[in-house]
Formats: sequence, structure tokens, C-alpha cells
Amino acid sequence: MTGTGRRAELAASLERVRERIARACLAAGRPPDAVTLTAVTKTYPASDVLLLAGLGVTDVGENRDQEASGKVEAVRGGGVGLRWHFVGRVQRNKARSVVAYADVVESVDSVRLAEALGRAAADREVPLEVLIQLSLDGDPARGGVTGDDLWRVSDAVVSSPGLRLGGLMAVAPLGEDPGQAFARLAVIAGEMASRHPGSTTVSAGMSGDLEAAILHGATHVRIGTSLLGMRNSLR
Ligand SMILES: *Cc1c(COP(=O)(O)O)cnc(C)c1O
Repeated sequence: MTGTGRRAELAASLERVRERIARACLAAGRPPDAVTLTAVTKTYPASDVLLLAGLGVTDVGENRDQEASGKVEAVRGGGVGLRWHFVGRVQRNKARSVVAYADVVESVDSVRLAEALGRAAADREVPLEVLIQLSLDGDPARGGVTGDDLWRVSDAVVSSPGLRLGGLMAVAPLGEDPGQAFARLAVIAGEMASRHPGSTTVSAGMSGDLEAAILHGATHVRIGTSLLGMRNSLR
């Protein structure tokens, strides 16, 4: 597809996603600017990121270090400034690489990872923002902390000078009404904000469930498919 064709396609899907967000905010009685859109551009090229930036997207998400680092370099080479969110599993030996380009790491789910990111971020000018990924289904295989591990990890983040605790991230469980799961997330987000004032980010909601997430207080939605199209590989 030509650049202009792709631009028109992305403009149309972005408009539809923005309308969904606005309608969901209205239904939830929240102001229309209460929710930030993070475009999850994994598997799509840097040229798409540049087009989205030109259309007003400010936040971009990636989930694999190798893919992300090259893409960030290509986009920055184009002189475009964006906020890069890392939303995938971080292997501890990749902490240094991720910290070099990410503004936010949304998927922190262990004390050891928090410590590794903290060491890697120690000499950053701006602290690395960290969200703790909360498991909503209790299945450790899908990532995320369960139970009181949340407080052990959040304490590790706040005690690290290179890191700033932003709040929580979650993915809706398979096979459960996402609204029910996001309602549990909202309760824990309230506890988080009272224990760590300022940690009020709630990153929840993807292409299929952004309305439910916004109804339950999401401040950031992470949208891939509805913006960029179906990915070839399931990830
Ligand atoms: C891929 C991905 C998304 C985007 O999912 P879509 O269903 O394509 O909108 C959101 N969050 C995470 C953590 C992802 O890996």
C-alpha cells in the first residue's frame, strides 16, 4: 500500500478508536480527556509509528526488546518525539536495553525485575516510569503479580531512585467478563493510590474491551488491532 493509502487507513481507524474512547468516557461520566490512547505498534513498521505520530498519537507501546529498540531508533531518527511504553515481558538481562529507550515499563511483576530496572536506570536524567502488572486471573504464566506481592514490588520500585511508580497495568483474563475483572482492578488501584500517592495510572483495556476498562477507571488504553489491523502472529 502507498504511504498516502496507509495514512488514510490509519486516520480512519484512529478516528473510530477516538470515538469509542469518547463515548465510553461519556457513559462513565468521565471527561473526554481522562483517557490516554497508547497505540500498540508491535509487528508494524516504524513508518506506521511515524504516520500515527503525524495524526496526533503521543504514546506508543511495544512488547519485544529487539523489535522495539530498532523501531525507536528509526522513529527518533525521523525527529519525532513520542512516549514509548514497554508492555511485554522484560527479561532481566534486557533491562539495560529497555531502559535506554523506554519512557514507561508497564509490565513489572517481580522485585528482582524492579531492582534490575532500578540499577539500569540509576543514571537517567528523568526517572523511568514503572507500572506494576497485576494478574487478574491468578495465573502466573500470563504475567503479573498476585496477592501481597503487589506491595513487595511497589515498595521495591519506590525505594529505587531511578524509578518512579506510576500505577498499575492489567490484561483482562480469558474466559471472564472483562468488566468484572476491571472492577477488581479498580479496587486495588484505589488501594495503590492511597498507599503511594501520585501512583494513579491504570493501564487497562485493549481493542476488545476498552469500554469496560474506561467504565472502571482506566487512564490509559492499549490499542493494537483496532488501530493497525490484525497481526499475523498472535502476540
Ligand atoms: C498486543 C497488546 C495489546 C494490544 O492488543 P489489541 O487486542 O491488539 O488491541 C495491549 N496490551 C498488551 C500487553 C499487548 O501485548
